[in-house]
Amino acid sequence: MLVALVLLFIFSLIWFFCRRNDKKIYDDVSITFHKHDVDVDVVIVGAGPVGMLLANSLIKQGLRVKILEKRKDRSQFLSRAIGIHPPSLQIFEKIDPQLVQTLKQKSVCVNHAVVLGNDRTKVIGELNIELCNKPFNFILACPQSVSENALEESLHRTIQSSNCSENGTIRSAKVVGIDSKNKRFASVKYEISDGTTHEIKCHFVVGCDGKNSFVRSECGIKLDGRSYFDTFLMGDFSDNTSYGQSAAIFLGNDFMVECFPLPNGVRRWVCSTETQIEKPDLQEFCGMVKKRTLYDISKQENFMLSSYGVHGFVAQSMYDHSHRVILAGDAAHQCSPLGGQGMNLGWDDAWNLSLTIKRVINGDSNINQDIHEYDKIQRRKALAIIHRAEFNMILGRKPSLIKLRNYFVKTLLASYRPVQTVVAKYFTMRYIGNVSFGRFVGV
Ligand SMILES: Cc1cc2nc3c(=O)[nH]c(=O)nc-3n(C[C@H](O)[C@H](O)[C@H](O)COP(=O)(O)OP(=O)(O)OC[C@H]3O[C@@H](n4cnc5c(N)ncnc54)[C@H](O)[C@@H]3O)c2cc1C
Repeated sequence: MLVALVLLFIFSLIWFFCRRNDKKIYDDVSITFHKHDVDVDVVIVGAGPVGMLLANSLIKQGLRVKILEKRKDRSQFLSRAIGIHPPSLQIFEKIDPQLVQTLKQKSVCVNHAVVLGNDRTKVIGELNIELCNKPFNFILACPQSVSENALEESLHRTIQSSNCSENGTIRSAKVVGIDSKNKRFASVKYEISDGTTHEIKCHFVVGCDGKNSFVRSECGIKLDGRSYFDTFLMGDFSDNTSYGQSAAIFLGNDFMVECFPLPNGVRRWVCSTETQIEKPDLQEFCGMVKKRTLYDISKQENFMLSSYGVHGFVAQSMYDHSHRVILAGDAAHQCSPLGGQGMNLGWDDAWNLSLTIKRVINGDSNINQDIHEYDKIQRRKALAIIHRAEFNMILGRKPSLIKLRNYFVKTLLASYRPVQTVVAKYFTMRYIGNVSFGRFVGV
C-alpha cells in the first residue's frame, strides 16, 4: 500500500512538471496587426499543392494573400503523389465543393485493395475502404500534376470572386530574403526574371517552398530525422491486369510490390529494391515485376520510370522566433512516399494554419498559444506518419519478420467487420498521432 502511494506521488510529480514544461515551452512575443502597416496579410512562398490550398482557404476567409513562385510554369513531373485521402477531400469540400467534383471526374476512386502472398496468385486478404465513413469512403488516385491543375483552377475562381486586386500569384518570383525583426510587419524580398528585386510587407510569411526550403534555412530552423536505406523503383504503364479499380499489394518473402490504378487505363507499379538504382532500366524493371507478380508489362506503353529513397525529417519548429514566419508542407516535414501521405499532411497543415492565422489576425486568440498549438499538433502527426513507415520498413527487412508481418496482415484482414473498418481507417489517414486529421472540420 505504501509503495503504491509513493509511486502515485512520484507519477503525480512527473505529470505536474511535464504539464508545467509543456505550458512554458513557447516564448511570449507581442506583435501588432494593423491593416495599414502591410501590403497584404499573408505572403506564401511556393505555389505547390500546399501553397495553393493555403492561399485558397485564407482568401475565402477574407484575408489578402500574395503567392510568390520561382517557377514560370507549374511543374509537370509525373513521378510524384497520386493518392488523395478522405480527410483531404473533407477539407476541400469546406473550401470549394467544385474542387471535389473536378477531382472525382479526373481520378480513379479506389475503394478496395487485394493483398497477395509469396505465391503471387493467392489472395491473403482484402482491404475494404468502403467500410469507412461516407461520403468519402475511397481514395482518389490521380497524378499530382492533375490535382495541382484542379487546385490552381479553384484558386483562380476564389481570387476572381474575392474582388481584391492584392490577391494573386506572381510567377518567376524567387524569394531571396526575409526580415522579421520589425514588431509591426515582416518583409519579403524577391527577384523577378529581369533581375530586379522587389519587397512586400505582410503580417505573416508562410514557407510552402518544398523540401529544400529557403524560408526554413533563412530562419535557421534545423530538421530532425534521417534517410533510410530502403529504396524503390516505380513506373507508370498501360494497365494489363485484371484488378480494375482495385489496388494490389504483393507481400513476398523477400520483396514487396504495390500497384495502383490511375486515370486513362494506366497503372503505377512500385517495387522495393536492394539499393538505389540511379538510372533505372525499363527491361530490368519489367523483369522484376514479372518475377514478383507474374504480370508481363514489357509490351505495355510506359509513361514514367524513376527511383526514390526514403527519408523521414521533421523541422525542429514550424515557426521562427518572431512568430511571423511559419512553415507548412514539405518545408516542415518529409515522409516516405510509400504510404502516400506527404502531400495530404501538407494540406492538413494548410487548413489548420489558415484558421489559426485568421483567428490571430482578428484578435480572437493568443498568437503565442495558437501558433504553438499548430506546431505541436502538426509535428506530432508528421512524426506518427514517419514512425509508421519506419515500422513497416523494418517488418519488410528480415525474413523472420516478413513471415510475422504476412501472418499479421492475413489475420487482421480476415477478421470481424469492426476490425476491418479500423484497418481501412488506418490506411486512409484517420488515426494519426492521436489527433484526427482536419480536426477543425471534425473528420
Ligand atoms: C515519388 C513520390 C511519390 C509521392 N507520392 C505521394 C502520394 O501518393 N501522396 C501524398 O500525399 N504525397 C506523396 N508524395 C509527396 C508529395 O509529392 C509532396 O509532399 C508534395 O509535393 C509537397 O508539396 P509542397 O507544396 O509542400 O511542396 P512542393 O510541391 O515541393 O512545392 C514547393 C514550391 O515552392 C517553390 N519554391 C521553392 N523555393 C522557392 C523560392 N525561394 N521562391 C519562390 N518559390 C519557391 C517551388 O518552385 C515549388 O513550386 C510523393 C513524393 C514522391 C517524391
